[in-house]
Amino acid sequence: MTDAVDAVETPTPRRKPKPAKREIGGRPLKPSTLMMGHGYDPALSEGSLKAPIFLTSTFAFENAAAGKRHFEGITGLREGGAEGLVYSRFNGPNQEILEDRLAVWDGAEDALTFSSGMTAICILMMAYCDQNDVIVHSGPLYAASEGFVAKVLSRFGVTYVDFPAGASREELDAVLAKARAQAEEQGGKVAMIYLESPANPTNALVDVEAVRDARDAAVPDCPIAIDNTFLGPLWSRPLEHGADIVAYSLTKYVGGHSDLVAGSIAGAKKWMDPVRALRNTMGGIVDPNTAWMLLRSLETVELRMQRAGENAAKVCEYLRSHPKVEGLGYLGFIADARQKDIYDRHCLGAGSTFSLFIRGGEAECFRFLDNLTIAKLAVSLGGTETLASHPASMTHLSVPHARKTMLGISDNLVRISIGIEDPDDLIADFEQALEHV
Ligand SMILES: *Cc1c(COP(=O)(O)O)cnc(C)c1O
Repeated sequence: MTDAVDAVETPTPRRKPKPAKREIGGRPLKPSTLMMGHGYDPALSEGSLKAPIFLTSTFAFENAAAGKRHFEGITGLREGGAEGLVYSRFNGPNQEILEDRLAVWDGAEDALTFSSGMTAICILMMAYCDQNDVIVHSGPLYAASEGFVAKVLSRFGVTYVDFPAGASREELDAVLAKARAQAEEQGGKVAMIYLESPANPTNALVDVEAVRDARDAAVPDCPIAIDNTFLGPLWSRPLEHGADIVAYSLTKYVGGHSDLVAGSIAGAKKWMDPVRALRNTMGGIVDPNTAWMLLRSLETVELRMQRAGENAAKVCEYLRSHPKVEGLGYLGFIADARQKDIYDRHCLGAGSTFSLFIRGGEAECFRFLDNLTIAKLAVSLGGTETLASHPASMTHLSVPHARKTMLGISDNLVRISIGIEDPDDLIADFEQALEHV
């Protein structure tokens, strides 16, 4: 025991290992390999192969000077943030390992985790908006994100300008000119361009490269953030196309088992720092148990997403020619040339969440949903099991009729998230459920 203690060079029982080797034979290790060990050294935890769950509210300092140094970092008196673990509202070993591994998937310098996707999005927006600022956002957004901008930030004098996903460079130039004028009139700035792609439930894609070019020309200091929940981290890498910050509901594909709620953001450290400072103040960091479950989920995220994507392609191939199906909103079958061009430049796969338009209306959709035997009737997406829901009467029930029509949320729309079951069983389930329509 004494020998082991003596062998540890740093007196702090810090879980951070020395920078691990992240390349082999001169090329970088792939994310799926790094998910098994990156950011964790068993030698710092009694040799435990897997990271233990660190249930503690606070961390012991090796001496008083170290405690002072940590707090200088936390409060911003010294650059570089905390050098160690301080207090569990700020950070913890499980959360730090998770953040290191999440950053790997997006090729980001830094990442932050939160108790839900909405906590991540709300703290992100609050960190960047001052009174009288303007947020520019694509539409539609996840309803709670849209509501936070329109109903909460507005109480603090923040206004917004929105534009339809799929807007062209010319349209984006006009949107940013309007936002600049609006900001000037209010005495504020354009604080953030916030995107969500593909939009739910339209599946319309945002041209992130065009947004970046328009931003560079009009508001070069303004960060571009994007909610990458639907296609990330596997099928879309927005930081490579000009976004500065990616946001996730980890509740969906990353968690992937419909058994937890969490969120994250990732990007360059300079973009993460203001958000970290606000999270330190407000709380909202993911808890250690959930962080541990997400570490387990990350080991299989590539396998699960690949299988779900393959399953969705097979199911959609079957559904597209079914006589009771009016159409599909699936990224694998894009007809529109502009949308197809964005897809080819930005996406590495079509995902496993799509819209199914059944011939008929609510009654026909309900008969279909009530007769599914494998697919479960629930909102959410990205889990191992297939889920189906009816947006018009469920997630989007409170959306005014005119806006529903504009967004294409019709009564004959069923939203489906395909899981990792056997694809032939899924097709057989959809087949028999459609027979009841
Ligand atoms: C679910 C979801 C959110 C919100 O995430 P929570 O983890 O439920 O807070 C945000 N954006 C998108 C696109 C989502 O699907």
